[in-house]
Amino acid sequence: MLSAMKKIFEKTSCKIFTNTVMTQKNFNELQEIVDLVKNFQPEIIQFAMMHTKNLKNLRTTLKDSAIKIRSLKINREILKTDGLPFCSMYGFEECVGESYWPEVLDVYNGASKIFSNFSQLENGMRWRAGFCKNCLMDELCAGIWIEHKDEFLKLKIHPIC
Ligand code: SF4
Repeated sequence: MLSAMKKIFEKTSCKIFTNTVMTQKNFNELQEIVDLVKNFQPEIIQFAMMHTKNLKNLRTTLKDSAIKIRSLKINREILKTDGLPFCSMYGFEECVGESYWPEVLDVYNGASKIFSNFSQLENGMRWRAGFCKNCLMDELCAGIWIEHKDEFLKLKIHPIC
C-alpha cells in the first residue's frame, strides 16, 4: 500500500486520503500509521470504528478509541474520525468526519449498483439516541455504528448544548 501511495504522491496530482479501521490488533500502531502516511502529504488521515456483527473480539471501544485518537501526534487539520460522534470527541470536534464529508453519499455495493444519497442511519447501519434531537450537532451528526449502541448508552453521554 505504501508503494502505491508513493507512486500516487510522486507521479500524480491526486490528493491522498486514508481511512484506517481501528482494531485491537493495530490499536497500538496508529501513531506509526500516521508517521508513515504523513510523508505523502495527505489531505486526510481518518480512523474509523469497526462495525461488524462478527469479529466482536476485534473491535475497539468508543472510549478507548477517542482517548487514543486524541493522543496522536498529528496536525489536527488532517485528522478525522468515523463512528466517533462529536459528544465523544470533546475538544477535538473539528476532527469528527461529519465536519468534512460531503453532504451526499453515493456508494457502490458488491454488484456495483449505485445507491445515490445513501443514508447509513436510515438503513439501520447507524444509531442515534432520542436525546440527539436536542443536541447542537443534530443536523450534522451521523451517530454511531449500530454495533456500539450498548456501549454508548453505558457511557451516559449527554447531548451538546
Ligand atoms: S447528535 Fe447525539 S450522537 Fe451526535 S454528537 Fe449529539 S448527542 Fe452525540
